[in-house]
Amino acid sequence: MTERAISDAVYDELVGILGPDGVLTGKSARWNRTRVPAPFPVHRWHEHVPDVVVLPRTTEQVAEIVRLANRRKLPVVPRAAGTGLTDGATPLNGGILLDVKRMNEIREIDLLDRTVTVQPGLNMLKLNEVLQPHGVMFPDDPASYPCSMIGGRIGTSGWSLIGARYGHTRDLVCSLEVVLPTGEVVRIGEGGGRKVRKASTGFTLKPLFFGHEGTLGVVTEATLELVPRPQAEFAAFFGYRDYDTAWRSTGALARSGFATLAGVVLFDEWKLAYLRRDDEAYIEQPDWLKSVVAVAMYGNEAEVVPAAREIMRIGRESGGTYLGDEVSQGDWAARHDRYAIPLHGRLRSGEVVPMSWHCEDAALNYSVLPQVHEEWHAIADRYIERYGIFDDWGIFAYTNGAYKPWGDYLVEIDIGIWEQRLDDEGWAAWLNCKREITEVTLKYGGSISACHGASRAGDVDYVPQELGGAFDVMKKIKRTLDPNNVMNPGKYLLDQAYED
Ligand SMILES: Cc1cc2nc3c(=O)[nH]c(=O)nc-3n(C[C@H](O)[C@H](O)[C@H](O)COP(=O)(O)OP(=O)(O)OC[C@H]3O[C@@H](n4cnc5c(N)ncnc54)[C@H](O)[C@@H]3O)c2cc1C
Repeated sequence: MTERAISDAVYDELVGILGPDGVLTGKSARWNRTRVPAPFPVHRWHEHVPDVVVLPRTTEQVAEIVRLANRRKLPVVPRAAGTGLTDGATPLNGGILLDVKRMNEIREIDLLDRTVTVQPGLNMLKLNEVLQPHGVMFPDDPASYPCSMIGGRIGTSGWSLIGARYGHTRDLVCSLEVVLPTGEVVRIGEGGGRKVRKASTGFTLKPLFFGHEGTLGVVTEATLELVPRPQAEFAAFFGYRDYDTAWRSTGALARSGFATLAGVVLFDEWKLAYLRRDDEAYIEQPDWLKSVVAVAMYGNEAEVVPAAREIMRIGRESGGTYLGDEVSQGDWAARHDRYAIPLHGRLRSGEVVPMSWHCEDAALNYSVLPQVHEEWHAIADRYIERYGIFDDWGIFAYTNGAYKPWGDYLVEIDIGIWEQRLDDEGWAAWLNCKREITEVTLKYGGSISACHGASRAGDVDYVPQELGGAFDVMKKIKRTLDPNNVMNPGKYLLDQAYED
């Protein structure tokens, strides 16, 4: 009696490519690679389990797996660390789950042309540990820095907490090797070289492979930018009595024009209340605070020290109260831990229950933040009142421009959901809540997602509306590159490309 969800013939072919230790068919191996930290319809978990898990080590093995999938019309879902928040690495239609964790080599560190070439299963923290003795770093710094991997950063087109100074994932990858959905291996980058940063030969294809969520192939290698490790880092937290003043101050700080400005973050009253009551890393702040703005600067000492003095002046003159070194340095240092905590939340009654974490990550212009802030909280409040299975964990807004922090903002409302109460009715209510949040984003000219992607149920319904005619172009590209719809099918409504 076998537990296998795939045929013996497919199993034998996969073992022929990878050896027996590279092919996992047991229940726990498959179920453990199903979900991501975002809210999940746990009552329908069994619908999203892959048939088999494969653990390749080389590009050629990946190419062979993809060719096999094409021959047999089996879905292939790439998965790196599984920390993505939009179900990207969740196999919607079963098939082969391609786990890249064993592809974790650093192939080359080039200190002269300032690049590092890696496989996609390398963890961000690990990479920078290896780079540290060389005095350089790869400056893609998400809150998921200790747990996410290069392949997932490219798959989602991630956003970096210090992106205003150094750029985001898409700006920091010089070139990548991709196994296309039909099994060919290509290098995508400026020109065709590995390390050239700007060229004008041919189409600029690189952006196509950022944020495709595994629908256009499997990234098997990437050459990344290296920057000097900063001599000086400076963080300042300012407190405000109301959101409006804090918002104005955020704008003044972001527009200050310093090249060393790495990020500006605006926390609202709900977020502070959540941190006060539930965050073990919370550093005591005065009761009168209704909003906090955090500023971070990175660079050479000769630049950061005088610029920091100016930033302190701008923060104070725009209505902020400096919250002291303990809060400023301690809280900034905790930026990678904070998001790992929301495993529980509260009902309106104050009762603590296990909850999962929805993190809406719209990209919005600065001018509309106050309106969106008000409307999103009103939506969350209605659902909390009516269904009792949600908690409002507050709103953050971060500069998300690369090299120009006055650009747009990643605006994030975090909502807790009592997953154990998600029957069909609760799940439907949750999707409606997300739809309402998304409608507000689009009403104010924003994008559904700044860094996680919009491939979740609920959000994905609005992708054609946000992209208009560009969504038809997406479908044409998908069908051309993936004639058999094997790469991560069911995502981004791209199945529509095959409907005639
Ligand atoms: C605590 C926490 C904090 C977070 N903070 C941030 C943040 O600050 N900024 C941010 O951008 N995101 C953040 N996220 C979201 C998440 O970490 C990122 O989206 C990350 O980029 C996903 O990386 P991963 O390795 O977990 O990828 P996965 O979740 O495994 O995969 C993500 C997507 O990429 C695809 N993919 C994976 N590997 C490949 C490959 N080799 N080739 C092609 N496609 C591939 C998958 O199919 C999937 O669609 C956070 C998540 C958590 C849990």
